[in-house]
Amino acid sequence: MNYKRDILFLEPIFQERIWGGTKLADEFGYEIPSELTGECWAVSGHPNGQSIIKNGPFEGMALGDLYVEERDLFGNYDSEKFPLLTKILDANQDLSVQVHPNDEYAHAHENGELGKTECWYVIDCEKDAEIIFGHTAETKEEFVARIEKGEWNQLLTRVSVKPGDFFYVPSGTIHALCSGVLILETQQSSDTTYRVYDYDRKDKEGNARELHIEKSIDVSTIPHTNVNVTPEFFEQDGTKVTTYVNAEYFSVYKWDVIGSFESVQDKHFLIGSVIEGSGEVKLDGATHPLKKGDHFIIPFGAGEFTIEGDLQLIVSHP
Ligand code: ZN
Repeated sequence: MNYKRDILFLEPIFQERIWGGTKLADEFGYEIPSELTGECWAVSGHPNGQSIIKNGPFEGMALGDLYVEERDLFGNYDSEKFPLLTKILDANQDLSVQVHPNDEYAHAHENGELGKTECWYVIDCEKDAEIIFGHTAETKEEFVARIEKGEWNQLLTRVSVKPGDFFYVPSGTIHALCSGVLILETQQSSDTTYRVYDYDRKDKEGNARELHIEKSIDVSTIPHTNVNVTPEFFEQDGTKVTTYVNAEYFSVYKWDVIGSFESVQDKHFLIGSVIEGSGEVKLDGATHPLKKGDHFIIPFGAGEFTIEGDLQLIVSHP
């Protein structure tokens, strides 16, 4: 077989956060650095935490370096840096209320970073779990006045969530995960977050986390525009394919595989994350086992492949 078409499995890296917990170990069996582990960077070429290739001739390489050196594996995609970042987030506590810049603003103000449009698939959550998604201000004056007076309850819109929900979060959207939510996030490869409000929390040393009020006001979409998406479904041989979003930066799907599912890799590259169950993937005569918590990339030109078993995957491509 052509080794350049084989599937690349990825070793995630983990980020400790004050709002993190232990679900990444409890639910996915990952070895986490502490009981305050918030983020699994599962498919990442970002310099703040790159995933490492686990198999094949590129074993041991960081994804961002592989992307630069072997661009044909990624169909010579038109971006200098690996464009996407897939994470699993365990919000054991509320995250800060935040907003991300678009490409133009990030490029000008954050050393050439990409902007950050993201989306969330809710893997699991507690009963009555909520997120913050959007705000009530009609004008910038109202937005600023509410922030200055600390009228957070009036300003922030809370939305209840349940497992299987999907949210598309374009740059400029005021948002926060709240406690008890476990999500898979697909986003632009960016680590730029502007914090608007952190619930006046202090860390162990008694310090509050830095806020970025001016930049938040600069980049927030006012009034909030709701761009929630309507999933589309089709079924093939017992497998249900859900399309959540086909947007500017990424397309995201869920595959509920039962039995055998045949597909064709005809994108620049395809990212897969197993969020439930187990099985195997067959490509070009090679078979790889798949289990919950595995993340992989099917490179450019791989062609036909088959996934077998009883498993759920979140799949994306740029
Ligand atoms: Zn965010």
